[in-house]
Amino acid sequence: MIHITYPYLSSITSHILQNESYFGIKDARLIFSSIMIVILIPITQPDTIMKNSKLFYLVAIFILSFSSSAEVVFIERLDNSGNYRQIQNNSFSDKIPTQSTEMKSAIAGYELSQKIAFERSLVAKGIPTPSVKFLSSQKKTKPLYIEVDNGDWAYNLMNGKNIQIISDKGTKRVQGAPIIKFGRNIPNSGHKHFMGETCSHEIGHAVMNALYSGKNLPKNQGGEHTIDSIKSPSFAWIEGFAEYYAASTYGDKKFPRGYKDRNSAELNSSEGYIASVLLELDKNFSKEDIFNVIVDIKPQSPADFLEEYIARYPKRASTVFEIMKKYSNEEWPDETFITKYNQGSLPTLDLDGNGTGASFGKDSEIPSQSKKLAQKIDKTQKQMTEVSSYLARLSKFLDRIYSFKQNIYQNYSNSSFAKSYLNRAQAMIDRANHQFNSYQKYLVQLRQQEKQQINDFNDLQDFGSLSAPSYNSNDSNDSTNNNAGQVLRY
Ligand SMILES: [Zn+2]
Repeated sequence: MIHITYPYLSSITSHILQNESYFGIKDARLIFSSIMIVILIPITQPDTIMKNSKLFYLVAIFILSFSSSAEVVFIERLDNSGNYRQIQNNSFSDKIPTQSTEMKSAIAGYELSQKIAFERSLVAKGIPTPSVKFLSSQKKTKPLYIEVDNGDWAYNLMNGKNIQIISDKGTKRVQGAPIIKFGRNIPNSGHKHFMGETCSHEIGHAVMNALYSGKNLPKNQGGEHTIDSIKSPSFAWIEGFAEYYAASTYGDKKFPRGYKDRNSAELNSSEGYIASVLLELDKNFSKEDIFNVIVDIKPQSPADFLEEYIARYPKRASTVFEIMKKYSNEEWPDETFITKYNQGSLPTLDLDGNGTGASFGKDSEIPSQSKKLAQKIDKTQKQMTEVSSYLARLSKFLDRIYSFKQNIYQNYSNSSFAKSYLNRAQAMIDRANHQFNSYQKYLVQLRQQEKQQINDFNDLQDFGSLSAPSYNSNDSNDSTNNNAGQVLRY
């Protein structure tokens, strides 16, 4: 059964239409018409949907190609009022190897960042796990603009202002596109690897811009820098991300690298450090996971990112700690920190001084499983309490009926009337005994069930952040939240 509801459809399409800066007006119209033939599949089973309309979620699948690579457009400034001219490949732009495998993979990452930003924005609108693919062979992602000027360096306008580009095909207005600037007088312009890597670094800034949707970008202080620079945390985050991004496509020998004699606060301001850590996370896990975390929380520093990454993927915590140690001369995080993390008794370490951090288990499946298991344990324990109190009442009842029987036996044993009472009392005692035995067995079963549930609960806690509920059901509620609100800072 396939349901299509208007509100969902309209929210998707209006979102796309509002995101004209991503796709361009023409593209938005094209996607809009494509949506008319979009297949909407309920994520849950139809019968579940019938039972509970709240579970009626839709997955929108935008069919066809997302394989075309982003366009690289070289432009040249015409005046100071935002007019540019598209230039065809010339002697300088030919020096930027846009067709090399490495650059193509950097450009593919730029597309990926736009796709993930779009998918996460759908998730934020209440559409779970959308798989977004764009229709038509036309290019749907923003082109990459490379402005050639007479400078002697390369940089990136993280969020280019309104510009007009004049080309053979006419004039095009571009909103908020990141523009990579390349100076004709850049040193080493004859070195293809250098040019490609520099361009990939600048694409890295464009990727970041896309992941932040051009908003709430870290306060970049700008200026010259090297991988060994110790600048502000936001500067380190911006440049470290771009360095990582270039290194992930070019396999630069500078990375990954370790740092000696640096304290943890310096690490948070070191672009080379976070670049190395990101490169390892990319290799060990995936680029997508890095991008997803960035889209969701828009980190302002390396610490912001790492806190959320560990909170999101608690099973990776020990690997992330190993990576962090590797690039901090085995100094951070230290054993005390790791032990406290594993025990779930970590104090707040607010090294970047912004007073906030990710609480463990946020957006993670593991704590919600824990919570469910804790609820099961709680339920079992409540049943045990009920059964125990029933057994206690049965026991008292047995005592009473037994003394009743003794009383009749001793005082009225000759009367036939008493005999029938004795028989009835004995029958009641037998039944009560029978009930007592079966409920006692049930209690043993519940105890075993509780034990198993507690074991399962403990097995879930492989990151050690939660403790098992107490056997006493009175305080089992609190024990699941031992780590709520605790903060990881590095
Ligand atoms: Zn940069």
